[in-house]
Amino acid sequence: MHNDKFKVEKVVVNGKEEIRLTGVIDEDTDFGTLEKSSGPLYLNLSGITGINSLGIRGWVNFWKAHTDKPVFYVECPPVIVRQMSMIPSFCGHGNVVSVYAPYICNNCEAEQLVLVGSDELASNPPKVTESFSCTKCNSGEMELDGSPRQYFAFKK
Ligand SMILES: [Zn+2]
Repeated sequence: MHNDKFKVEKVVVNGKEEIRLTGVIDEDTDFGTLEKSSGPLYLNLSGITGINSLGIRGWVNFWKAHTDKPVFYVECPPVIVRQMSMIPSFCGHGNVVSVYAPYICNNCEAEQLVLVGSDELASNPPKVTESFSCTKCNSGEMELDGSPRQYFAFKK
């Protein structure tokens, strides 16, 4: 059965090949395409919009069966970061390269994602911007939605 909720495509970002995953990870997700690629996998997860409990199980089992492949998780969105922080086995043997941190305006509740790269992730808890001015209402401050310790709990 064709599954158009989930897409796997090869992209080149700054001269480096990445596999971009887009959509929802659930019981229908077929990780077969990832199996075929050789060498280290740079998985860009920025397009993942959701994952359910069966998707999580499939994901964890897939990486358990492919521990021989070096894996790097790039641009992980909050929906993935929250799983990483709640489920210790979620990352498998993979390395987290960069994640998106969700910021929310304390005045107008506008939301914005800020990319946290490997330099910031090198410290624990990561050095993230505490707050910055909201460009939408021009009077509020954008703050991290939640506690940094909780959000970045995937860092052991
Ligand atoms: Zn605002």
